[in-house]
Amino acid sequence: MSILSTTNLTKQYGKEPNVVNALKGIDLSIEQGEFAAIIGTSGSGKSTLLNMLGGLDRPTSGSVRVDDFELGKLNDEDLTVFRRQRIGFIFQNYNLVPVLNVYENITMPIRLDGKKPDRKFIREIISLLGLDEKIYNMPNTLSGGQQQRVAIARALAGKPAIVLADEPTGNLDSRTSDEVIELLKVTSRKYSQTIVMITHNPEIAAQADRCIRIEDGRICE
Ligand code: ADP
Ligand code: ADP
Repeated sequence: MSILSTTNLTKQYGKEPNVVNALKGIDLSIEQGEFAAIIGTSGSGKSTLLNMLGGLDRPTSGSVRVDDFELGKLNDEDLTVFRRQRIGFIFQNYNLVPVLNVYENITMPIRLDGKKPDRKFIREIISLLGLDEKIYNMPNTLSGGQQQRVAIARALAGKPAIVLADEPTGNLDSRTSDEVIELLKVTSRKYSQTIVMITHNPEIAAQADRCIRIEDGRICE
C-alpha cells in the first residue's frame, strides 16, 4: 500500500462569484521511501496541495490518506497531533528558532510532543548532514545551507511518515541547492524516508526520483 494517496482532491478558495478552483481533482499516490518532486509554475496549486497533504488546511472535496490516517476523519485537535507526530516540515526560510542552538532546534518538535529524542538516531542524522561541529551553534551563526541542513535534521528526527519540503532550496545558491537536494536523496534512501518536495525549478525537480507536474490545479504528468 502507498504511504500517501489523494482521491479526487479539490480545493476552492472564496465564495461565488469569486471562487478560485486551486485544485481540480488530484489523484496522487506516493510509495514508501519515494523522493518525489511536485513541480509547477506560480499559482498552479503546489502550496495548496502541500497544505492538504500535511493537514494544514482541509480540502473542499476528496480525500487524503497518509499512512493509516484518513485526514478528513480527524478533528482539528487530532489533525494537529497527526501533523506533529507524522509529518516533517521543511520550509524555504528554514524556520529555525533563533534562541535555540542546533541540537535544541533539531530535538524541539520531539520535546514539544512530550517525548524523549532517540539520541543515537539524532546523532546519526547530525553526522550524516555534516553538522557534528555545529551542534552548539546558534542559527544566526550558520550559513543558509547549514541552516537548511538543521531544518532537514529536525524534519527527520521524529521519524515521520512523510517529509514535506516547500521550496527547500528557494533561498540558496545553485551549488548549495544541489548539496541540499543530494542530502535529501541520501536520507530518503538510507532511512526509506518518503519525501515530497515542491519546487518551481526544473533542475531541482529533475534530481528527485519522480517528478509530478501540476498545472492549473491538475496533475498533467
Ligand atoms: P503555487 O503554490 O503553485 O504558487 P497556490 O497553491 O499558492 O499555487 O495557489 C493556487 C491558486 O489558488 C492561485 O490562483 C492562488 O491565487 C489561489 N489561492 C491560494 N491561496 C489562496 C487563498 N488563501 N485565498 C484565495 N485564493 C488563494
Ligand atoms: P495549530 O494551527 O493547530 O496551532 P500549528 O499551526 O501550530 O497548529 O502547526 C502545527 C504543526 O505544523 C507544527 O508542528 C509545525 O511544524 C507545522 N507548521 C504549520 N505551519 C507552519 C509554519 N508556517 N511554519 C512552521 N511550522 C509550521
